[in-house]
Amino acid sequence: MKCPKCNEKIDDRTNYCPYCGEEIAPKVCPKCQQYYSNKKFSFCPDCGTKLVSRYQMAKIGEWL
Ligand SMILES: [Zn+2]
Ligand SMILES: [Zn+2]
Repeated sequence: MKCPKCNEKIDDRTNYCPYCGEEIAPKVCPKCQQYYSNKKFSFCPDCGTKLVSRYQMAKIGEWL
């Protein structure tokens, strides 16, 4: 994926951009199990389900 702040290519699983320090917290649709890197998204563009952060998904234990 690309860093939303500096546009450098970074690893999908990194927590912080190594180039600019931006916190990377992709949104996840729990229904489609699809990542959305736009942090401004609140709802899934495909199904309308409320998106959660991948940290929330990790806490639930289904992800990562
Ligand atoms: Zn960056
Ligand atoms: Zn969805």
